[in-house]
Amino acid sequence: MPSISLMRRAVPLAAQLLGISPLCLAMERALRPASLRAVIYHSVPQKSSIQFENQLRYYSRHYSSVTLSDLERLLNEGQWRKPKPGLLLTFDDGLRSHSEVAAPLLEKYGFCGWFFVPTEFVDTPTPLQRAAAKKQNILLDEDSPGDRVAMTWDQACKLAENHVVGGHTATHVRLSQNLTAEELKREIPAAKNYLESRLGKTVDTFAWVGGEEWSYSRSAAAAIRDAGFRFSFMTNSTRINRHTPPLQMDRCRVEPHWPLSMVRWQLSGLMDVAYCAKRNRVHRLTQ
Ligand SMILES: [Zn+2]
Repeated sequence: MPSISLMRRAVPLAAQLLGISPLCLAMERALRPASLRAVIYHSVPQKSSIQFENQLRYYSRHYSSVTLSDLERLLNEGQWRKPKPGLLLTFDDGLRSHSEVAAPLLEKYGFCGWFFVPTEFVDTPTPLQRAAAKKQNILLDEDSPGDRVAMTWDQACKLAENHVVGGHTATHVRLSQNLTAEELKREIPAAKNYLESRLGKTVDTFAWVGGEEWSYSRSAAAAIRDAGFRFSFMTNSTRINRHTPPLQMDRCRVEPHWPLSMVRWQLSGLMDVAYCAKRNRVHRLTQ
């Protein structure tokens, strides 16, 4: 698994030992009950399953699962009716490990997963998937047996029965201002229609690709809205409440092999401050 640099571990660990992250988490839970936090995972390889399960055990003690109707109720009515704060767990890139490693553990701990699928990656023939992933900047499951790293359409349909499956473009392209109208059409409305035909159900949710400031654009935001997506996720770390525009919901990054001190750091809200200026610029651009 990828190693974590000493610096990246040290700050969250110090915040944990000094009681800063736990205090911020407790304040968030106490002061803002009608809000939730969304996190973004990518690959969940088998070799990280013990640590990932440890994270889920922690989540199940402190947070409640978030379904599509829970999210709608929060955004529309400002209501959160579950006993613990909501934690919305998202998984980008349509990976095999999402179906085979993450989903069974999510179900064991009672969490709904939100899976965002780039359609042409799932359609890529198995022998070509590793090369396609590399070309499309998709992080691979390094320990997958054989060559298949994307989930199959059967697996995506199965996930859609108990979880949420959403759009993530066709070719996992950053939706920058450089895309032509034709490219936007292929990546957003056409990919949505195709995903709906494969799943046999409406797809309401979308996740932007990348997260760099240049990977957002006004034209793509309009295409997402015009395609009929009702919810979309970005990556600029802040909480979601009734004042959050449904097409501008932000997530914070968590990796399955991270220790709990790093997870608590991400969930504590301390990183929201660091993202504030970028978040405001992205939201202005995409409103
Ligand atoms: Zn992605």
